[in-house]
Amino acid sequence: MAVKPTVIGLAGNPNCGKTSLFNYITGSRQHVGNYPGVTVEKKEGTVLVDDMQVTVIDLPGTYSLSPYSLDEKIARQEILSEQISAIIVVVDSTHLERNLYLFSQIIETGKPVVLALNMFDELDASGNILNVEQLSVILGVPCVKTVGNRGKGVPELISTALKVSRNEIEAIGNHPVYSHEMEHAIDAVIALIHGTVPYNERWCAVNLLQFGRSFSPYQANHSIAPDVHKEIDKIRDRLESLEGRKIQNIITAGRYGYATGAVTECMKAKVHTHRTITEKIDSVLTHRWLGFPLFLSALWIMFQTTFTLGAIPMEWIEAFFEKLVFIVTKILPGGLFQSLIVDGIIAGVGGVLVFLPNILILFFFITFFEDTGYMARSAFIMDRIMHSFGLHGKSFLPMLVGFGCTVPAVMATRTIENRRDRLITMFIVPFMSCGARLPVYILLAGAFFSPKNAGNIIFSLYLVGITISFLVAWILSFVKDSSASFVMELPPYRIPTLRSILLHIWERAFMYIRKAGTIILSFSIIIWVLMTFPQAPQKAETDTLPINSIPPISHTYAAQFGKFIEPALKPLGFDWRMGVALIAGFAAKEVIVSTLATIYKVGDVDDQTIESNLKNALRNDPLLNPVKAYALMLFILIYVPCIAVLGVIKREAGGWKWIVLMVVYTTTLAWLVSFSFIKIASFIS
Ligand code: GDP
Ligand code: MG
Repeated sequence: MAVKPTVIGLAGNPNCGKTSLFNYITGSRQHVGNYPGVTVEKKEGTVLVDDMQVTVIDLPGTYSLSPYSLDEKIARQEILSEQISAIIVVVDSTHLERNLYLFSQIIETGKPVVLALNMFDELDASGNILNVEQLSVILGVPCVKTVGNRGKGVPELISTALKVSRNEIEAIGNHPVYSHEMEHAIDAVIALIHGTVPYNERWCAVNLLQFGRSFSPYQANHSIAPDVHKEIDKIRDRLESLEGRKIQNIITAGRYGYATGAVTECMKAKVHTHRTITEKIDSVLTHRWLGFPLFLSALWIMFQTTFTLGAIPMEWIEAFFEKLVFIVTKILPGGLFQSLIVDGIIAGVGGVLVFLPNILILFFFITFFEDTGYMARSAFIMDRIMHSFGLHGKSFLPMLVGFGCTVPAVMATRTIENRRDRLITMFIVPFMSCGARLPVYILLAGAFFSPKNAGNIIFSLYLVGITISFLVAWILSFVKDSSASFVMELPPYRIPTLRSILLHIWERAFMYIRKAGTIILSFSIIIWVLMTFPQAPQKAETDTLPINSIPPISHTYAAQFGKFIEPALKPLGFDWRMGVALIAGFAAKEVIVSTLATIYKVGDVDDQTIESNLKNALRNDPLLNPVKAYALMLFILIYVPCIAVLGVIKREAGGWKWIVLMVVYTTTLAWLVSFSFIKIASFIS
C-alpha cells in the first residue's frame, strides 16, 4: 500500500465545537474562540492513529455550502478536494435539527462522512434523549458521541473516521430526497452533464439547478457549456412553474424536511416548562435598554482592571530590569558597547516587556467574553446601533477582535458576504485600539495623568476609536448599497474551561515575548544605531547636561530624518523626536515605547527604573503636557496600522492601492483629529 497520508476534514456550523475537537485530536495549540475568523485560516494537524499518519483539517464554520460567502466557498472547496478522503461533520447535539441542514448538503457531495454528535453533555443535561443507533441508520453514516471541550469520544471519532476513509465502514450516507418534480429535474440535469463533471453528479445537478451560472465548482478547464446552462435554465423554469415556488424554497424545504424528519424520529424531547438558563441570562444581558449600558460597563471594567491590576506585576518586572542595568553597567566598561546594551537593548526590549501583565489581563477578558458566549451577544446588542451607521451587527465581531490584534480582525471580516461591507469593516477595524497600542497609552497616560484618572483616559481613547470608526462607516455608507440581512446566532452561555483561557493567555504571552525578542529587539538596535551615529564632533561637555537636553543626538541620522518630517508635526506641537517615534511605530506600535526610551536615554540613570525614568523624562520635556500627551495618544490611535496589518489588508482586499489608501487616509485623519483637539483644548482653557 502506498504511504499516502490520510486527510480528514472537520466541518460544521460555527460554535459547534469543531476547534475544540480539533485541538483534542491533534493536540495542537490553537485558540478556542467564538467569534468568526479564527478558523478561517486553514488549520492542520497530524496524528498517529493505529500506526497511520492522519492529517486533520479544521474547516471554516458555516451554515451551508452556498457559493456566496468566502468561508462557505473555502469549506466547499476543501470538502470536494481529492486529497480529503473523509469528512467529520460536527454538530451541536442540542441544536441537532438546525445543524443537520449543513450535514444534508455535505452528504450530497458523496464524500464518506462521520457524524460527531458534539455537546452531548449538554444534550444529556437538557433531559432530551437521542437514539444514536437509530440516527446512524437513518442517516446512513456512523455517529459518535463527543464532548469537545473535554476530549470525550475523540479516540473513537478519529478511529471511525480512519475506517471510513479506508472504506472499511459504509458511510456514503442517505442524501435528502426532494419533491417528486424536483427529483425529475435532478435526473434531467444529470442526463445533461453525465460524464462531464469531476464531482458527484447528483450534487452538481442540485447546485446547477439552485445557483445556475454562479455555481462553478470546476477547475478552469472544466466548465459547463453555455447551451447546457440554457437547458438547465429551462428545466428550472418548468420546475418552478410546476411547483409554484422558487427553486431556493424547493431545495431548502427538502433539506429542512430531511433534518426535521431525522430528529423527530430519533429524539425524545423532554417537555420544557420553564425558560432555560441562557434565556434567563439573555433577558438581562441583551435587554433592549439594559444591554448597551451593561456592555459598556463590561468594557470599562476590562480596561480599568487591565490598568490597575497590571500595575502590580509591572513593578516586579521593572525591578528586574533595574537590576540588570545595574549589573551590566558594573560589568561592561562605559562607552558605545555599554550604551548599545543599556540604552538600546535593555531600554527597548525592557520597556516593552514591562507591559506583559497588562496584555495578559486584557486577553484574559477577551477570551473570557468569547468563551462564555458574551462576545456573540455584543454583536447582537450592537446590531441596532450598527444599522444606523449603515453597517451590520456582523461587522462588530471583527471590531471586537480588533481590541486584541488588528491582523485577525481583518481576517475575521471574511464572514461578511457583501464585499463593500467587508471593505468598509476592514477600513474601520484599525481604529479599535489593539493590544500593542496599550503600552503606549499606559506610558503616556501614566506620565501625564494621576493614577486615578489614567484608566479613564485610556478608556476614553478606546471610545474615541469606536466613535471614529462609526463616523467613518457612516460617511462611507453613502457610497455603498444597503447591507444584506442575516440571522444572528446566539450560542448558549457556557462556563469557559480554565484550559481554554490559560491556553489562550499563554499563547499571547508567548507571542508578545517572541515579538519583544525579535521585532522589538532588532528595531531597538537599528534605532539605537540611527540615534547614535554619526556622533557629534565634540562630546566632552555633554555629560553634565540634563537627560532631556538634545545636543548629542541632534547630529544623528534619526534626528536628520525626524527634522525632515518635523514641519508636518510642528502644528501639532511635536518635534522631530516624536517624528522618529511615530515612524518607528510603523513596525509595531510597541516600538514607540522603546524608541522613546532610547531617545530619552533612560537606561543611563541608574537610581530609578526604566519605566519611571521614562515617565519623568517625558514629564520634564517642555514640549509635552497633558493636552499634548492626549493629542499624541490620539495620533497614535488613528495613524497607520502596523506593517503586519497592511500586509493582511493587501491580501484580503486585494492590491496595493488599498494599502496606499489606508496609509494616506489614516495619517491624514490622525493629523486632523490631533490638531483639532489641541485647538479646541487651547480654546477652552
Ligand atoms: P467552533 O466555532 O466550532 O470551532 O467551536 P469551538 O471549538 O470554538 O467551541 C465553542 C465553545 O463551545 C467553546 O466555549 C467550547 O469550550 C465549547 N464546547 C465545545 N465542545 C463542547 C462540548 O462538547 N460540550 C460543551 N458543554 N461545550 C463545548
Ligand atoms: Mg473554531
